[in-house]
Amino acid sequence: MTMGIDRVAVIGAGPAGAYAAHLLARAGREVTLVHRTRPLEKPCGGGVTRQALDDVPELPPIGGGRSIERTIFRAPSGREVSLEADSRERELLRIYPRRVLDAAVRRLAESSGARILEGSVASIERDGRGFRLRGEGIDAESSSWPFVIGADGIGSIVRRSLAEPLDERDTFLACGWRVEVDAAPTAILCFERRLRGYLWSFPREGEVSIGACALGSSAKPAALFERAARLADELVVDSAVPRKPYASRIPAPSSRTLRRLRVGGDGFALVGDASGLVDPLTGEGIRFAFRTARLAAESIVAGEGGPGYAERARRDVVPGLVSGARWRSVFYQPAFLEAMVALCAKRQGARRLLLDLLTGHQEYAGLLERLVGEGFQSLAACF
Ligand SMILES: Cc1cc2nc3c(=O)[nH]c(=O)nc-3n(C[C@H](O)[C@H](O)[C@H](O)COP(=O)(O)OP(=O)(O)OC[C@H]3O[C@@H](n4cnc5c(N)ncnc54)[C@H](O)[C@@H]3O)c2cc1C
Repeated sequence: MTMGIDRVAVIGAGPAGAYAAHLLARAGREVTLVHRTRPLEKPCGGGVTRQALDDVPELPPIGGGRSIERTIFRAPSGREVSLEADSRERELLRIYPRRVLDAAVRRLAESSGARILEGSVASIERDGRGFRLRGEGIDAESSSWPFVIGADGIGSIVRRSLAEPLDERDTFLACGWRVEVDAAPTAILCFERRLRGYLWSFPREGEVSIGACALGSSAKPAALFERAARLADELVVDSAVPRKPYASRIPAPSSRTLRRLRVGGDGFALVGDASGLVDPLTGEGIRFAFRTARLAAESIVAGEGGPGYAERARRDVVPGLVSGARWRSVFYQPAFLEAMVALCAKRQGARRLLLDLLTGHQEYAGLLERLVGEGFQSLAACF
């Protein structure tokens, strides 16, 4: 079943699905990318780190992004440190409206020869040696697919049909507001007491996304909306400015879950949020959407199929995320956050380290060694 995969259906045309479709079509596979056209804008901060952009060299420059050169990091006491891009990275983050980013990756897939099929998959069943898909816009397709990529996000129907769903405990709940105002190109990350998560303010074209996230069921939606509203009140003083609410979950697997997460099997691969492979500390998912898409495409082209992809993900992605999940319990402790901000105020090396974490240039694996090596014993001791 895994050798010579020449036809692939990719379900979901977010960054993961569209990028996988591009790589496979470019490698000569016949690819159908199922694109659900609603909702137009996925609830997302839209922040793409430098590392994530570097990982997709094929993606042409995308207009409509906001370049972020400064990030404010606020500890629970209210003490802040401001981190600025230096000549090395020029920008810390680029922030896109998701419809703009997703359309750009979809165009890349289309230009490589992937066929875009507007539709929504309602069911997926094994059919002899392949899979039969049903749903709006799909039913007219009579074919059986020898290989399916599930790139259909956190609620993935492909995951639910072919593997086990993610438990709510392995997710962040994220709630917030899109505030229609022009803001300075500064991102803000705030950590608060009794919040196993954080708040953010991400400015983009004509609006700011202000939100709060918390692990599992540690906070109710109303409480997160309220925390985010307080930050919005502080940053956008004019209360007449329209605010639109959004809420969604983001995969945030524990180290235990990561070790047993099923991301591929006979005839299928799960990529992006559908895989559950997302930074479990920050919820940064776009970088991992691209990364898992690449691994899946490489496994298919190499004839290793779903089991080969699962093995590549286990080797290349899971160890770093396991480290992130272990750091998570340390990171959200007020003592750690206060020590980090205090050190950043005093030492350039500590600011550099936090910048490297924010931009994705410092992986969690190796972080402890760097803390010790650079003499940040007060932080290393928290781990
Ligand atoms: C509030 C919030 C803020 C976030 N902020 C950031 C951030 O700033 N930076 C970052 O890196 N990550 C962020 N994330 C995470 C990020 O949004 C995801 O990790 C990323 O979108 C994953 O990409 P994906 O392609 O796997 O899935 P998605 O982007 O969710 O795309 C899945 C696609 O599949 C489609 N689909 C779903 N079901 C079906 C179906 N049955 N049939 C056909 N199509 C289907 C959907 O319509 C969608 O187009 C945030 C998430 C949330 C909720």
